[in-house]
Amino acid sequence: MKDIMLEEEEIELDSLQFDNLLNKEEKDAFNYLLNHTVFCPNCSQICPQGVVDYNIILTDANEILMKGKCGKCGSGVTRLMLIEEDAGFKDRVKDIRNK
Ligand SMILES: [Zn+2]
Repeated sequence: MKDIMLEEEEIELDSLQFDNLLNKEEKDAFNYLLNHTVFCPNCSQICPQGVVDYNIILTDANEILMKGKCGKCGSGVTRLMLIEEDAGFKDRVKDIRNK
């Protein structure tokens, strides 16, 4: 059995937490991924009208998971937003988790 104390929890970030987590470059990267790389299984293509109503989840591995809806058809879409993290990222994650 794994030591439960070492497990991080998934946290759904509110907009302020998400805003604090990413620096300018990371926000740009996030928006690029959001607008150009989220695949809609229903449309069978990258969401042609972008993604709407999305939530951001900090996963147990401290990765950023986006869950939203295709802007065209409304199907649920999910993508792990793998962005290059700066040196301060881990500290900001810690701040969020310690609150
Ligand atoms: Zn769609």
